[in-house]
This record gives sequence, C-alpha cells and structure tokens, in this order.
Amino acid sequence: MPARVVVLGGGVGGTLVANLLSKRLRRDASVTVVDGSGMHVYQPGFLYVALGQADALWLARDERTLLRKDVELVVENAASVDPAAQVVHLVRGGTIPYDFLVVATGSRIVREDVPGMVAGAHDFYSLDGALRLREAIRTFKGGRVVVGVAGIPYKCPPAPVEFTLLVEELLRHRGLRDRSQVMLLSPLNRAFTVESASKLVQPIMEKRGIELRTFFNVETVDPQKRTVTSLEGETVEYDLAIIVPPHRGARVVEESKLGDQAGWIPTDRATLQHAAHERIFALGDATDLPISKSGSTAHFEAPVVASRIAAIVQGTAPREAYAGRVMCFLETGNGRATTLRFDYAHPPTPPTPSRMWHWAKWAFNRVYWVTVPQGRIA
Ligand SMILES: Cc1cc2nc3c(=O)[nH]c(=O)nc-3n(C[C@H](O)[C@H](O)[C@H](O)COP(=O)(O)OP(=O)(O)OC[C@H]3O[C@@H](n4cnc5c(N)ncnc54)[C@H](O)[C@@H]3O)c2cc1C
Repeated sequence: MPARVVVLGGGVGGTLVANLLSKRLRRDASVTVVDGSGMHVYQPGFLYVALGQADALWLARDERTLLRKDVELVVENAASVDPAAQVVHLVRGGTIPYDFLVVATGSRIVREDVPGMVAGAHDFYSLDGALRLREAIRTFKGGRVVVGVAGIPYKCPPAPVEFTLLVEELLRHRGLRDRSQVMLLSPLNRAFTVESASKLVQPIMEKRGIELRTFFNVETVDPQKRTVTSLEGETVEYDLAIIVPPHRGARVVEESKLGDQAGWIPTDRATLQHAAHERIFALGDATDLPISKSGSTAHFEAPVVASRIAAIVQGTAPREAYAGRVMCFLETGNGRATTLRFDYAHPPTPPTPSRMWHWAKWAFNRVYWVTVPQGRIA
C-alpha cells in the first residue's frame, strides 16, 4: 500500500514539498494537500500593493494549478491533528489518516493583541491590510509617518526597513517630503535582526533623513491621540502609523498542542522533524527555528523534508539535512537593492545596494509562479 503523506497548508513550503514528494515517490505514496483557502498567495507582493506599485490580482493563484496532477487537494481547514491515531480532523467533520504529516501552515497575524492597533494603525501583512494602506498613502497630504514592529518573530525581518525606505522615496516623488517626517521604530538596538544588513542600511536611512528609534517594542496605539507607545514606556505621535502586527502559529497547531506557547512547532534544526513525533515534519513559518520566517527558508527546507520522507518510505537512510540556508532581497529605494544570503554557520555579508539586485528581485517576483512551487529553481 502506498504511504499516505498529508501536507497541511498550500503556501510556499507546502506546495513545493507536495510536488517534490509526488515526483519522487510516484506510486510509492499518495500525497494530499489540505489548504483552507485553495488559493496560493505570494505575500512579498503585499509591500508593492501597499505602495501602489502592483496590482493585487498578481498575488494569488488557484492552488490546483500549481500542484502536480497526482497530488490531491482538499480545500478545507484542518481543525486538529491526533498524532497518536495519525489522523487529521477537518473543520467540517471529515478525517484524513496519514503515515507522514508535513505541517506547513505558516503564521497568522494577531492585530487584536495590540490595543488600539485595529482602529489606529495600518499594516502591509495581509492583502486587505495592504489595500487599506494603499488608500491611506494615496490620500496622505504629509505629516509624521511612523513604521514599527509589535513583537518578534515576524515574517520577512527586512520588510519594515524596506517599507520605510520605499515610503520615504514615494513621499519625495509626490512632493510631500518637505512636509513629512519618517521614523522607524525598531524593537532592537539596530534597524533589524541582521547586524551586517543593519550596518548597511542605517547610513542610508540617516542620509535620507529617516529617524531610527531603537528599543521600541510597540505595545499600544491610541487612535484618538494618534500616538504609539512602547513596552519600554516611550510615546511617539503619528499622522500615519504602519505597524507590523504580532505573529503566532496557526490555530490548528495550537488546537492540537503541537506547538509552544506562541504556536511555533518545536522542530529539529537539521531533520525538520517534530521534536516529539517522528512522523511529523514542519517547515516554513510554522517552525520554532532560530532563522528568518521567510519564503526562501520554506523553499530551501522543502527538498530536505521531501528527501527524508522519501528515504524512509523507500527504506534507505535519510541523508539530507537543513543547514539554515536563507536568501532574501532588501530594496533600499532609488531603484537599488541588496541581498542577504546566510545559513546557521555563516552570517550574511550583503553587497552595496545596486540596480542589479533590484532587477533581480523584480525578475524573481515575475518568475516565482512558474519556478518555486514546482521546484524548478534550487
Ligand atoms: C509583506 C511581506 C513581505 C515578504 N517578503 C518576503 C521576501 O521578500 N522574501 C521571502 O523569502 N519571504 C518574504 N515574506 C515571507 C513569506 O511570504 C513567508 O515567510 C512564506 O509565505 C512562508 O511560507 P509557508 O509555506 O511557511 O506559509 P504560507 O506561505 O503562509 O502558507 C501557509 C498556508 O497554510 C494554510 N493554512 C493555515 N492554517 C491552515 C489550516 N488549519 N488548514 C489548512 N490550511 C491552513 C494557509 O491558507 C496558507 O495557504 C514576506 C511576507 C510578507 C507578509
């Protein structure tokens, strides 16, 4: 009987791992993807939608069109997992048994965890958030723009810095820069988590007159007074507040008690197996690994998960291990970008921002749909 592999989540990690497994195992396994929406969303595009540089239609595709024909797709949310019975319970009452489970349910944003955030601040961490922010920026007449972060970890660590640099450029182009102040509130002692990249972008921010406030963990937003207050007790005023919401693991992980307090799955950093259940693997944003929550992380983890499951099914020794590989672009504005490439052992040494990396990022955005989910680029 073929091994039953069930993949929860049809995002970057889930789609790629399902395609790789079906290609590799063919008749030795049945592969089923369970995804709540049936739509695959390219989240890096939210940033461009919010800035009015891209159309929202570009960001989503029917998940079925990205999966190999022999992968089954169930368009329904998983409610819980029973690891002892090796079964997934669906929200409408059905069940799916598995021999191997891959949890690729990503992360969820919880704006409501920050008092005042829903009414008083914008974000670009969901499509609806990006569309609302685009309108707010379109009608903005100048004033104090504040970009902040409410909690670590959050996905795509460079995104708030990137957004700050790009919004500053937009204000310049619209002739609003003289009437505006731009400020980045960072929870750390530098612009963002990666030290070498912070060293690279901070002088650029300074040159463009962008203020950096460090050790500012957003705690509350006051929509009436138009202020943001930090956990550290500092308060800043705003005319337009853009705050990265707190993140948590998926509900199904919490319901199934498969994760830690924040819903992140305890995952072996090399094998990507659940710390307590050897038949459960995790990848992408869902894990508790000390590495960026990014699409590229999921992209580089998927072949490891697929090859380890395939080896167990075919009775050979699993060999491939994840070494913490990540690769991200960081737009610095004015048509330039840099790139961050690193792994567990090697921190990144980002090159001076250039037009080449900016175009590389745009080219990647364009070819994503016909390369990454199908496993055509490694
Ligand atoms: C503004 C922004 C910019 C970004 N920029 C970049 C970038 O430049 N480079 C980069 O590498 N990354 C970037 N990222 C991060 C990247 O998009 C995520 O890290 C990546 O999508 C994570 O992949 P994943 O497969 O783990 O989860 P996701 O792609 O989020 O997919 C999770 C899937 O699981 C499904 N799901 C959840 N719960 C259930 C359930 N109970 N049952 C069934 N299905 C469920 C969801 O519907 C979803 O389809 C950015 C993110 C944002 C928000």
